[in-house]
Amino acid sequence: MNAEKPSVCPLDCPDTCSLSVTVADDQVIKVHGSKVNPITHGAVCAKVANNYPDFVHGENRLRYPLKRVGKKGDGRYERISWQEALDTIHARVSAIIAQHGAEAVLPLNYAGPHGMLAGDSMSLRFFYRLGASLLERNPLCGGIRSAAYSGTYGNAPGTPLQQVSLAKLIIVWGNNATACNLHLMRQINAAKRNGARLVVVDPRRVKVAEQSQLYLAVRPGTDVVLAWALAVELEKLGGFDREFIAQHVQGAESYMALARAYPPERAAEICGVPLEDIRTLARWYQEASPAVIAWGNGLERNQNGGSGLRAIAALPALAGKFGVAGGGIVGGAGHAFPKTGDRLTRADFAPSKARTLNIIDVGGLLLDDQLAPPLKALFIYNHNPLIVHPDQNRLRKGLAREDLFSVGIEVAMTDSMHYADIILPACTHFEHADIYSAYGQQFLQRAEAVIPPVGESLPNTEIFRRLAARFGFKDAAFRESDSELMDQALNAEDPRMGGMRPSQLPLNQALRMEFGGEEPVLFKNVVPRTPSGKIELESSTLRARYDAALPSFRPVQSGFPLALITPASDQRITSTFGGLAASDGTPLLEMNPADADARRLSDGAIVKVWNELGQVFLKLHVSAAVRPGVVSSDKGAWLRTSTNGQTVSALAPSHKADLAFGACYNDARVEVAAH
Ligand code: SF4
Repeated sequence: MNAEKPSVCPLDCPDTCSLSVTVADDQVIKVHGSKVNPITHGAVCAKVANNYPDFVHGENRLRYPLKRVGKKGDGRYERISWQEALDTIHARVSAIIAQHGAEAVLPLNYAGPHGMLAGDSMSLRFFYRLGASLLERNPLCGGIRSAAYSGTYGNAPGTPLQQVSLAKLIIVWGNNATACNLHLMRQINAAKRNGARLVVVDPRRVKVAEQSQLYLAVRPGTDVVLAWALAVELEKLGGFDREFIAQHVQGAESYMALARAYPPERAAEICGVPLEDIRTLARWYQEASPAVIAWGNGLERNQNGGSGLRAIAALPALAGKFGVAGGGIVGGAGHAFPKTGDRLTRADFAPSKARTLNIIDVGGLLLDDQLAPPLKALFIYNHNPLIVHPDQNRLRKGLAREDLFSVGIEVAMTDSMHYADIILPACTHFEHADIYSAYGQQFLQRAEAVIPPVGESLPNTEIFRRLAARFGFKDAAFRESDSELMDQALNAEDPRMGGMRPSQLPLNQALRMEFGGEEPVLFKNVVPRTPSGKIELESSTLRARYDAALPSFRPVQSGFPLALITPASDQRITSTFGGLAASDGTPLLEMNPADADARRLSDGAIVKVWNELGQVFLKLHVSAAVRPGVVSSDKGAWLRTSTNGQTVSALAPSHKADLAFGACYNDARVEVAAH
């Protein structure tokens, strides 16, 4: 008999939809949206609706512990018992620690599941206590945005998603909302029904641009220049709120001194957008209230990414767009929740001088014979690094080192798992309880398991409990239950919890984060939480951390003529679901007709795309949706889609952005020719 059970989508997506799961005979049959979360309101994306049963129960699912029996990368494994797996890991890692010290061990994880327990809770307790090297993982994605937002506004929540419906002007900037921020669309549509204008800024004519009154096809990496030019034009129009600036903004004059070097005429050249469009957007922004900016993830993935975000974040400060519901920037949602941070992960277990390594550098560090101590053991979990890290070929070489002991903890047999010596099967979130904040909306949700664990898989928390026990860690923190972990994750005493313990949050309720009984509105019931208490366009924090007190602009230098952008796919969430049939087939490369003609390339042909780091074979899709000089191919395809063992990540450089030492995927420059 079928049963409908409540759950929450844990994937790396800002929306964090509430779900209703049809279950029969301990199998997930279908996944729908539920209305528990008013923001997601019963709708889910096609990626989840179409793929989940196969993801949980399909042939690619990991069900048992495995040990490698072939060469690294071959994918040949044999089933073993949990006991043998834990004993092997303990013996190999202990020997490495005895010879090289605990810092020779590195957790290599990212954001596969976004539940607060599966994400990083017991896992970090284990690595802290082990004394392993620590991983700075945010630079891979999201770190640049966090640094830019927090550097400007501090840890204050931005405009809640639902307030977009109140805006009179919405600027969707670098956000392919229909594919990766689905529930923004409902808010945009509601606002448009009330007469709002929609402006889209993106190098690719994404679907939401079809509904816009104005579309600016900005060149990748030049967003900072466009935002500066808008500020210059606003100032010229008398669109600055001088009183607000004097009272609440730090560094406005230093910011404008930089911006004035890029007036609209110059910005039009650099950004490749019509001068009149810049002027029109500035005028519309000046006139509209509330006016809101909803930015996406793509625009930060370049060496000017932090500057782009900061320059955009300056616009509502200069134009005085705060203090009214529906005005400002949709951002900083993570700051809305009363998280306890280190209490969940027990950072106090870490040795005071543990070294921290940037996730982007891991490929190079694995090959660095000067690194002391060298990296000798990896624990790869919640992550598919071979597919998602920049400079794929270098990382592959590192992972293939025969003297490297790798443990994989995963739901599915990914390309990265093919390099693990021992694989431990992890539960999907449908098989364990978890609690969910979000990074795109401000409702807290809890879910329980809807089916028992598949095969011998275990929740991440239990896997790390068992590892801790095997390594002889006696602290009570390693025996805490999942409910106890939930209660450590959020502060039950905070008024936002409404007197509820996190582990008791009803399954049929999404708890709205409120400030003084209302949704947050910056300069009404929340204020910037920066050192100065003001909006910091010139930031002492960012100066100290990144030598970046103010935004800056550096064009990419390359001998390759085309900018390759790698946006999110509408088939996968980054690489999740990439092992399913729906993601098979040669990935597309979108190219403008002018660029295709210049190279005598025709639609549908297999083309070679290359630069100094690698080469990839893709199927050409000639389309005016990408601007001349730019080519686009979706990120996250697995190696099964490739004929030469390389995907677009092989073309992404490993240099760092201006903030957070973040990844610069969209700084890839390539050439394309017939295959
Ligand atoms: S991936 Fe995003 S839009 Fe799709 S169901 Fe999950 S949270 Fe919702």
